[in-house]
Amino acid sequence: MTEQLLDKNKAIVVFSGGQDSTTCLFWAKKHFDEVELVTFKYGQRHAQEIEVAQAIADEQQLKHHVLDMSLLSQLTPNALTDPNMAIEANDDDIPNTFVPARNLLFLSFAGALAYQLNAKNIITGVCETDFSGYPDCRDSFVKSMNVTLNLSMDKNFVIHTPLMWLDKKETWALSDDLGVLDYIRERTLTCYNGIIGDGCGTCPACKLRARGLNNYLVEKGANN
Ligand SMILES: [Zn+2]
Repeated sequence: MTEQLLDKNKAIVVFSGGQDSTTCLFWAKKHFDEVELVTFKYGQRHAQEIEVAQAIADEQQLKHHVLDMSLLSQLTPNALTDPNMAIEANDDDIPNTFVPARNLLFLSFAGALAYQLNAKNIITGVCETDFSGYPDCRDSFVKSMNVTLNLSMDKNFVIHTPLMWLDKKETWALSDDLGVLDYIRERTLTCYNGIIGDGCGTCPACKLRARGLNNYLVEKGANN
């Protein structure tokens, strides 16, 4: 039996419609000929997260796969899926937005989809720098997952993490390099209160995003 080689020019992006994964979408478009998106539906607090992702996919004319992962919300209560729970972030602990095994499951399903599509490349916007409280967003986990995917399907997938070592300021800089800073600023949804673009301004996700953007714009202004 001759093994069918994965298409090295084809990529799928794990896509939520937020700043990070949208930056990854444009990074992928720059590096690969054929890009498709996969969004996981798991009982997010805000249904418009899926709508925002779909709208961006349509605007960019990319094929968009939405996979139902609602079983995640059955496993444990957490602030991302339970609308009655307040979002809390603190410095020492894992934030209560943590969904155990979320990224493990997402990357497994992304791998299964990549197998179906014969795509060699899987791109995820996880990063260690800002939300390092999530253990399955760390580089060591992603590398281990890459090995596991390859062993499980006898393929040579490559998981790319273009944001792994970037802080939010550097992620904005990357989107500016890619020529899409304004698009990402206006069209993506990061806010825990479901407000698109610059968001509510007060939740932890908005604060992090705004601080990074301000730092980047100040630095850019100083260099001009
Ligand atoms: Zn917000």
